Amino acid sequence: MSGTTGSDLQLAIVGSGIAGCAAADFARQQFTNIEIDVFEQQSRIGGRIRETAFASDTFETGATAFHDESRYMMKYVDRFNLELANPVKPRQKPTNAPMMGLSFGIWDGQRFLAKMSGALRDRLTILRKYGLSFPRLWWQSRRVFKQFNSLYDVLEAGGSFKSPDEMLARVDLYDTAQQSAMEHLREHAVSQACIHQVLDPISRTLYGQDARMSAVVDLYMFKAIASNSWYSIRERNSLLLDHLLDAASATIHMETKITAIDANTGSYTLTAAEPPTEYGPYDAVIIATPLEKTDIELNGGAPPVSSDREYQSMYINLVNGVLDPTYFELGAQDDLPDAISTTTDVDESFTSIVTLVRENGGTNIYHVTATSIVPNDLFLEVFSSIEDIERFSWEAYPVYEPPLLWPPFQLDHGIYYTNAMESAISSMETEVMGSRNVVNLLSRRLREG
Ligand SMILES: Cc1cc2nc3c(=O)[nH]c(=O)nc-3n(C[C@H](O)[C@H](O)[C@H](O)COP(=O)(O)OP(=O)(O)OC[C@H]3O[C@@H](n4cnc5c(N)ncnc54)[C@H](O)[C@@H]3O)c2cc1C
Repeated sequence: MSGTTGSDLQLAIVGSGIAGCAAADFARQQFTNIEIDVFEQQSRIGGRIRETAFASDTFETGATAFHDESRYMMKYVDRFNLELANPVKPRQKPTNAPMMGLSFGIWDGQRFLAKMSGALRDRLTILRKYGLSFPRLWWQSRRVFKQFNSLYDVLEAGGSFKSPDEMLARVDLYDTAQQSAMEHLREHAVSQACIHQVLDPISRTLYGQDARMSAVVDLYMFKAIASNSWYSIRERNSLLLDHLLDAASATIHMETKITAIDANTGSYTLTAAEPPTEYGPYDAVIIATPLEKTDIELNGGAPPVSSDREYQSMYINLVNGVLDPTYFELGAQDDLPDAISTTTDVDESFTSIVTLVRENGGTNIYHVTATSIVPNDLFLEVFSSIEDIERFSWEAYPVYEPPLLWPPFQLDHGIYYTNAMESAISSMETEVMGSRNVVNLLSRRLREG
């Protein structure tokens, strides 16, 4: 190996989001004598995991929640002794209860079409309204979820995949991934009403998209959300990343934007701008950020990445105020559901409004999502009073309308790419799966020479 410091393996990781931090940790566990450098262009760790101080509290304004069947996330929680919290009303309930019993309302701009909660009465209403379509939707989402999760055993046994489509083919989900959820569900006799009124609003809330999304992403997330057991990490989700980097004993180069990776016979050097600095040589490099959203030149070896995925913009708004029940044709605050998701009929405005904290000294705290900037006028219509608003925008996740593009997990002999995984599903848990896969690929290359 090319190491100059006595280590057998020199590894560079570009990006300190969950994919980069998990890759550092997996690499530390996998290889005995390794040195790991992590490069992060910003002045904070976390990437799309980000917390924000607002109204004398702290809220997640990027990735918020994971479900209790997220095998890696739940293992990290145990391993680092992290405290779980209900992502909704986190400060109100000082328990480690998940997001159970949340009431959900589907709003079409005129009225609430459906209400969903764990209550038997609501379940019976849904069954009456959508007949067998609802159990069929549930059954399809369960199948996708189960098949996708069978990847854990392959990855934990050291198995690796060259690209996400190979991964999906292995668990018999390739064809489903290349079909939209709408097409897939129609083939399985799910009614258009059920797709439009139940699945679309959930897809809009989670991904700012609708049932034209790939059936794998949409149905996996539907099953996850319907399981109703969601958590955040109490203090902040990014605390997990601090633990992963500590466990990896990685050297972290903050505010260091990598602009080029050069291949020189068997090793790699990285160039950072401002001030121009060269790092390396490294035996391997893991790129842990979407290449579409950064401008890293790959010189001398790595072919250009054959992917130009479009990313979905998401606008997150924290509002300290009071939602107006009359806007929703309701009489009182208590009639409002905890979470309001909208159908595609409500195109111009918001995709969801979730009440995070009730009665924060007379006002509530809401998390409002949209796929475009929410105009002030709309806020004034929907809320009867507003104390404060904080706005964030993200290039959040790929647009999942098939046909999907599948960048490879390995770009060159020694350059790996965790964010190829986002073509299958983008979430904290699945990014960790992508990291496990690239560390397995690296391990296999070192074994096989
Ligand atoms: C608004 C929003 C809500 C979401 N909600 C959820 C949710 O509730 N649950 C869930 O599981 N997932 C959610 N997600 C998805 C989840 O956030 C992502 O899938 C995941 O965090 C991506 O992690 P990553 O490490 O792959 O990439 P990123 O988090 O994007 O990390 C990439 C890092 O690389 C750095 N970087 C980029 N270029 C360079 C360079 N040239 N040099 C050095 N550093 C560089 C970036 O600054 C960044 O820190 C949400 C995403 C968004 C935006």
